[in-house]
Amino acid sequence: MLYVSTRGNCPPRRFSDILLEGLAPDGGLYVPEEIPKIRLEELKALPYPELAFKVLSAFMDDVPGLDDIVARTYRADIFGSPEITPLKTLEPGFHLLGLSNGPTLAFKDLALQLLGNLFEEVLGERGQTLNILGATSGDTGSAAEYAMRGKRGIRVFMLSPHQRMSPFQRAQMYSLQDPNIHNLAVRGVFDDCQDLVKEVNADAAFKARNRIGAVNSINWARVAAQVVYYFKGYFASGAKEVAFAVPSGNFGNIYAGYVARSMGLPIRRLILAANENDVLDEFFRTGRYRVRRKVLETTSPSMDISKASNFERYIFDLVGRDGARVKELWRRLEQDGEFDLSHSAYFRTVAGTGFVSGHSTHADRIATIKSIYSKYQTIIDPHTADGVKVGLEHREPLVPLICLETALPVKFAQTIRQALGREPERPSEFADLERRPQRFKVMPKDAGALKRYIEAAR
Ligand SMILES: *Cc1c(COP(=O)(O)O)cnc(C)c1O
Repeated sequence: MLYVSTRGNCPPRRFSDILLEGLAPDGGLYVPEEIPKIRLEELKALPYPELAFKVLSAFMDDVPGLDDIVARTYRADIFGSPEITPLKTLEPGFHLLGLSNGPTLAFKDLALQLLGNLFEEVLGERGQTLNILGATSGDTGSAAEYAMRGKRGIRVFMLSPHQRMSPFQRAQMYSLQDPNIHNLAVRGVFDDCQDLVKEVNADAAFKARNRIGAVNSINWARVAAQVVYYFKGYFASGAKEVAFAVPSGNFGNIYAGYVARSMGLPIRRLILAANENDVLDEFFRTGRYRVRRKVLETTSPSMDISKASNFERYIFDLVGRDGARVKELWRRLEQDGEFDLSHSAYFRTVAGTGFVSGHSTHADRIATIKSIYSKYQTIIDPHTADGVKVGLEHREPLVPLICLETALPVKFAQTIRQALGREPERPSEFADLERRPQRFKVMPKDAGALKRYIEAAR
């Protein structure tokens, strides 16, 4: 399997060469030269690790010992059950696919746990090390830390805004005692943390000398890992054809569904659910892609985005895999903050790719959490509620609807209390989470201090 850039200007590369990289050198994103087709009958009855190996080996054909890496990753003791992503039926034809039973109780664990094991393997084989530098306001940072803790050759430097995360999220990250995990609490807001990461990355000499890398959502291994549970959910439903509703932010999760569909999985609809940050919903309704100047802070915070980093991969396909065309659209995006495909023949092909969309507000989330609880005695988190709300709007008779559950409600207790007047359940391993000793360093908003910290940590 070879990978090419969405902007069409890079020589094809193998998977293990793009694994540790971010953007392609021409500024595009790596995508497979061709999406592999899969024979459904061969995958049907497989347990999760074997299913994952079959799907992933199509994309990662140059990783030695991939079967072992996959078996070590998708284990019942890490993901809570041998199904890994259990399907919960609320009523016939209406299901939740549980993606948030990993170590940090959000779906990002499914991809990041694999990434941690892949990184360790490929770095070890090459005799290299990596310092992962990132900024987080919650979910991604903790999933990355739980994936990389104790891994040989890897250190994590994760910036978070000092005293601005929920007590649960803070405890989840700061209670890690592994020496290779560095929690840096920056005196500032999340944007300050992101600015610091950018500033350090802009120093090319420092970056090269300290082998600075990232684990962001454009990494192809993350996309590929997410393709697997669309197959799992489909088979568990027992249906011939299904629709998936996906709470979306950076377009990583639902793009994986689109890849599964392109591989031959019978997905009738991919229902994209946004919150008040509705840049993607606007595109799928109108053909206009307008980057937002300001991100709204919502009660489904992991979907708060101004633009969607994986979207370029979908557009690449939509314009017939014409890299020059993508390059031109993104030049326009940089210049005008938007591009408009509403009058182009490309936009008319969107329907054929299975996408429909919608968005929700805080009031919708509260109402959805309430109604799902009263009808089915099931508590869903606010992100999942966005997906359920929009999913039900687009539900078709006779087509089973599978809503992806992207986080457990315990992570967003405040919203659950507002909706239901009660506390969400807490898995027993997390009973004393906030009382565990915490390990973190408070830092000023100063790139010089951050660089000194990273160099001293060697
Ligand atoms: C990251 C995240 C999302 C959004 O997923 P994308 O892949 O960025 O579209 C939705 N819900 C939760 C809980 C998340 O952590």
